[in-house]
Amino acid sequence: MSTVVIAGGHGKIALILGRLLAERGDAVRGLIRNPDQDEDLRAAGVKPVLCDLEGDGDVTAAIREADAVVFAAGAGPGSGDARKETMDKGGAVKLIEAAKAEGISRYLIVSSMGADKAPEDGAEGFGAYLRAKFEADEALRASGLDYTVVRPGGLTDDEPTGLVRIAAGTGRGQIPRADVAAVLLTCLDEPGTIGKSFDVITGDTSIPEALAAL
Ligand code: NAP
Repeated sequence: MSTVVIAGGHGKIALILGRLLAERGDAVRGLIRNPDQDEDLRAAGVKPVLCDLEGDGDVTAAIREADAVVFAAGAGPGSGDARKETMDKGGAVKLIEAAKAEGISRYLIVSSMGADKAPEDGAEGFGAYLRAKFEADEALRASGLDYTVVRPGGLTDDEPTGLVRIAAGTGRGQIPRADVAAVLLTCLDEPGTIGKSFDVITGDTSIPEALAAL
């Protein structure tokens, strides 16, 4: 049994992943900033832990003694450029520093298609989002942690297909959040995904097969 901490624990991908992990007997903590979300996490078998990833608060206690952390949080589409910086980048970096301080080596991040290279200086809106994601991913790759950077295409709430296309660059496409959660689950089990960064969209290869071919 492993202990996995999911940052952004009430997020759509996070709740699906939390349930998958809990169902197979792993201990799962979900980091949330709103106590009203407690019940949804408990219903998924996830232990809620209050922890705001922005600001000055300490994150280390929330992840203590975990085997792996998954950053699945995000400022969300309604947020301005400032929160891309404080959440999508700052929150991820804060969790990286906490993982290092706690000696937790395994770190998975949900990034985004298009974040494989730096957008031009001064990018705004979606460009600011991709910059924040890119810089968070770069910080993780430079951290010395056992990282995996997962860059999904456009997310949908469709039923999972279990079939994906995974590559350094897949080209544009979409993928159900449930399939992204399944990819994260398989990455946690598969040491061969350590040190890898990849795009993922719906395709025609099973998730274990696609990850094994990385
Ligand atoms: P989501 O449902 O929007 O969940 C994001 C979670 O992050 C929310 O539960 C939110 O909590 C949490 N969060 C925000 N600020 C926080 C803070 N300061 N401290 C702690 N938690 C905080 O996300 P999703 O749809 O599952 O997507 C997951 C990731 O995929 C995101 O990083 C997103 O950028 C990325 N992505 C999205 C797309 C797309 O097509 N939408 C494509 C590629 C990648 P609150 O409820 O408190 O706000």
